[in-house]
Amino acid sequence: MPLDHFATLRQSIPRMRHLVSQLEPTYRLETVAEINEAFLEQNGIRAVLWDVDGTLMPYHGKDVDPVFPHVRAMFRDGPARHAILSNCDEARFDELGHIFPEVPLLRAYSVPRETVFRFRLREIDTHTPEDIEHLLATGGKQIRKPSSELIRHGMDVLKETDPEAVLMVGDQYLTDIASANLAGVRSVKVETFRPDTFPRTLRVSQLLESLVYRLFGAKGGG
Ligand SMILES: [Mg+2]
Repeated sequence: MPLDHFATLRQSIPRMRHLVSQLEPTYRLETVAEINEAFLEQNGIRAVLWDVDGTLMPYHGKDVDPVFPHVRAMFRDGPARHAILSNCDEARFDELGHIFPEVPLLRAYSVPRETVFRFRLREIDTHTPEDIEHLLATGGKQIRKPSSELIRHGMDVLKETDPEAVLMVGDQYLTDIASANLAGVRSVKVETFRPDTFPRTLRVSQLLESLVYRLFGAKGGG
């Protein structure tokens, strides 16, 4: 049961009326194959925030898919700075920390009266598993995309103040693209990579999301 996805939906439903106006991506590409250094340079992008599952790899994959060999090189050597924003659960977050030792993983939690930001890079983590367990047990909640706060956290970490120079890359309108638009940064919508690998419940919700986009979100309506 993909609890992380269910929680995302539950968080989004009360805001749906506002979110449907935030679904138009800046760019639409079939895959991340076209997001290379030339693309980033041409578009003046200096900081990139990446979704993982369905964007860089199949659902809960163990590495960037081999069909996108340039991505890791870009993470390592590219002139732009990169970070990962995933709505995954805590176990997958830890796994992604091992998969991406070269890129910061970001997330945030709301606790009464404040937001706690978390940053992980290799073994460096601002919070221990015990910290997070305590935080969640005492009423804290993971902040999930769509969230402008997460994008601004990414901009802070990547030291980029100009929203025009920031790009969110993802396969979901309601999480990735809406986050970018809420924060006023640019976005790329890619087709979900290997949709066959996603659990059936997620595939149904992905279909619903595309339907919401076509019915209410697409420019010019209808
Ligand atoms: Mg995704």
